[in-house]
Amino acid sequence: MSDTLICVLCCHNFHPDLLAAAQEEGWSDVQVMAYPVRCGRPAMRWEELEPLLLPGTSGVVILGRACLTGLDAPPDHWPMTRIDRQAECFHLVAGKTLVAEAISRGAYLITPTWLATWPDHLASMGFQSDQAGEFFHDFARELLLLDTAILPDADDRLREFGAAVRLPVRRLAVGLDYTRLLLQRAVNGLRWETERQRARQKELRQTRDMADLSAAMDFLGRLVLLKDEPEAIAAIEEMFRMLFAPTEFHFAGWVDGAWQSMDRIPPALQEQIRQLHREWAWTRSGEGFLLRLDRAGHTVGTIAIDHLAFPHFRERYLDTARSLLGICTLVIENARTLQRIKWTEAALRQATNTLLQESEIRFEATFEQAAVGIALVSPEGRWLRVNRKLCQIVGYDHDALLNLTFQEITHPEDLDTDLDYVQRMLARQIENYAMEKRYFRRDGSVVWINLTVSLVWKADTTPDYFIAVIEEIQARKEAEAALRESGENLREARRLAGLGDWKWDLRTDTHTWSEEIYRLYGRDPALPPASYPEVRSYFTPESWTSMAAAIEQSMATGKPYVCDAEVIPGDGGPHRWITTRGESLYDADGRILMLRGTVQDITERKHAEEEIRLLNAELEQRVQQRTAELEAVNQELKEFVYVASHDLQEPLRTMNSYAEFLREDVGEATLNESAQEDLRFITDAAKRMQTLVWDLLAYSRSGRLEVRHRPVALNDCLAAVQENLQTSMVESHASVTWEDLPTVRGEATSLISVFQNLIGNGIKFRRPGVDPILRVEAEANGALWVIRVRDNGIGMEGKYLEQIFQPFKRLHSKKEYPGTGLGLAIVRKIVERHGGVIQVESTPGHGSLFTLTLPAWIGQNQNPPDREAVP
Ligand code: ADP
Repeated sequence: MSDTLICVLCCHNFHPDLLAAAQEEGWSDVQVMAYPVRCGRPAMRWEELEPLLLPGTSGVVILGRACLTGLDAPPDHWPMTRIDRQAECFHLVAGKTLVAEAISRGAYLITPTWLATWPDHLASMGFQSDQAGEFFHDFARELLLLDTAILPDADDRLREFGAAVRLPVRRLAVGLDYTRLLLQRAVNGLRWETERQRARQKELRQTRDMADLSAAMDFLGRLVLLKDEPEAIAAIEEMFRMLFAPTEFHFAGWVDGAWQSMDRIPPALQEQIRQLHREWAWTRSGEGFLLRLDRAGHTVGTIAIDHLAFPHFRERYLDTARSLLGICTLVIENARTLQRIKWTEAALRQATNTLLQESEIRFEATFEQAAVGIALVSPEGRWLRVNRKLCQIVGYDHDALLNLTFQEITHPEDLDTDLDYVQRMLARQIENYAMEKRYFRRDGSVVWINLTVSLVWKADTTPDYFIAVIEEIQARKEAEAALRESGENLREARRLAGLGDWKWDLRTDTHTWSEEIYRLYGRDPALPPASYPEVRSYFTPESWTSMAAAIEQSMATGKPYVCDAEVIPGDGGPHRWITTRGESLYDADGRILMLRGTVQDITERKHAEEEIRLLNAELEQRVQQRTAELEAVNQELKEFVYVASHDLQEPLRTMNSYAEFLREDVGEATLNESAQEDLRFITDAAKRMQTLVWDLLAYSRSGRLEVRHRPVALNDCLAAVQENLQTSMVESHASVTWEDLPTVRGEATSLISVFQNLIGNGIKFRRPGVDPILRVEAEANGALWVIRVRDNGIGMEGKYLEQIFQPFKRLHSKKEYPGTGLGLAIVRKIVERHGGVIQVESTPGHGSLFTLTLPAWIGQNQNPPDREAVP
């Protein structure tokens, strides 16, 4: 322990106690020193403590409380230092529990050292001895001396101090045990830490020694690795010169039964080398030695070391040299073996080169003339070698292509896939790969190629180059695209048309459906097509029955089938209608191989048909209803006609008859003027009424007229009319003319009625004093005849012209021009029944022109002429 000196630094107040404790421990290498007491105001600094340290201090222990708050890590040049911070200063002499308990009971703790100079302490607090009592009473109930037994008159002093501050006193013997324990822990802790550091330093030193040793081993190892004999000999020479510092060092090699490099060795040594048959010998000068290098019975050479710098150590040097002899022999042998390997390698390379050149020529020819593109590509992607075909494919000339990388001409959409393959090949995950991709040609156009790549590795296991085989597939790709497009068009057309197709291969019982069928049947496209029995669930029972029958019949007869069916879609959608067509395919022996067919969505057509059917039904119903109504009206009309023709005429006839009877019975001559006039009125009214009834009957008949299609010669009709109107024509001096009138299709009686009405009106509505002149003309117009009836009568005002064809419409008074107003209404109805029209043009005072159309009589193969029609 002579090289250690530990300084224990503590507060002045506790110094005597700690000193005493240290002395009791009997430590010769521990010195306890005091630093001035000031209870941390201000805190202690390292510079204040440093002068206290004794020369040769190897470790420091600092004990205290508030004074130490300013001390952190000691300065670098300080010896090993340990700081023991106390929670309470009194812990230096007594345990924590004891101190805490005493303070909580109101005890004012004091140490023997403090007690020894208590009046000084009170003075430093600013009290006279008899004035401090009041101050102490504020916080203490007793004075307690922690007695370490270092103050001989402790009792007396305690009493004096107690009397001065008027507090009871107590003395607690704590001895030095606690202080000693504290010191032991601090000092031994420091010692342990110092030892630990020493051990670490020793360890460091040993590690360094080991490093020197391994450096030496390295040197020997390097010797073994030398590949060249002169190099090896130079290294051996360097080693021996370093070890023994000789003036001369020589090596004579024994190769193939002869000494090498002898001429550079002094003759005396040469001689000795030739004659050396043992492992070693001293040189003639006596200041060196010769060493023979042997291995497995044959000699490698001899080392001559002469004129050592310290010849008197030659024995020790010889021992060292002999221990190194084995390794020197190995080194030289090794170098010679390596040399031989090199020569062999060179000879082999020479031979291989010749072979390589020949195969290179063959390779060159194959490479250049290949029908596909071939390239060697560096691992980074640069074209190293490219053949003619590749240049053609990408449209670059040879040199331009070599300035590019494959990445630069690869289409961006294909690049990632390609690079991914390359990475996997470089990582040795795959040996080669093939892919279809696009290059940009020099002119910017795109060309599709099929690429196959493999990788050649160097001997050192790094990648050397890629071999790429490039085949142009542009035409194939275009064909594929066209095919795909037309396939897509077809699919789209089928989708738009709602047309699907299916196949059922009976040999394998496999079904094939197009997408559209899945859609029509509402079946999940991820499922396989439904089997024949399974399909049943997609149809209403009625549809399935008729469809299954159609299929079975087709299979039996070999004839195709067509069938409409109602589909219940599997996805719960609304029912659909389809037309399904199918046919069977047979082999040479007439066995069915396959059924195939189409399914056409006809839902919309079916809906439209249904709508039309409903509309028709409704229309039919309405027609029936209307017909019934018309029939009822007709019936009423018929009844009216019956009434008019029979019941109305009867009283008229009666009136006429009785007026006549009266005239006969009384005798007309006996009647006065007025009675005769009354009778005339009765007769006239009855006649008018009769005319009206006849006209009404005619009108009603014309409405129900069924036109029988017969040829009617209008010339004949006019002749009949002229005859009928003979009387009135004579009376009025009227003339009626016509020329070459045509034959029309119709009914003679009705047409006579038409012309009789028109000509009759022309005579009736004549201008006073003007003889009526009537003219009838005809003009062909396609399948119609246009007939014109012109008069020179009173004419009509334009605004009334349309009204005259309505029943009972008259423009003139009955008194002036008698009539019922039904004539033209009957005329129009008859013309319309013949499929013609009638209209009138007129100017008042200038006559009227009636124009009507009638169908021409065209062929002989129609009904025979209505002979009866012409009276
Ligand atoms: P009615 O001759 O019995 O009066 P119509 O139906 O034949 O009845 O003629 C209707 C009316 O048209 C006649 O009352 C007359 O006013 C006018 N009308 C017909 N034909 C002629 C005509 N040729 N010239 C002038 N007015 C005519």
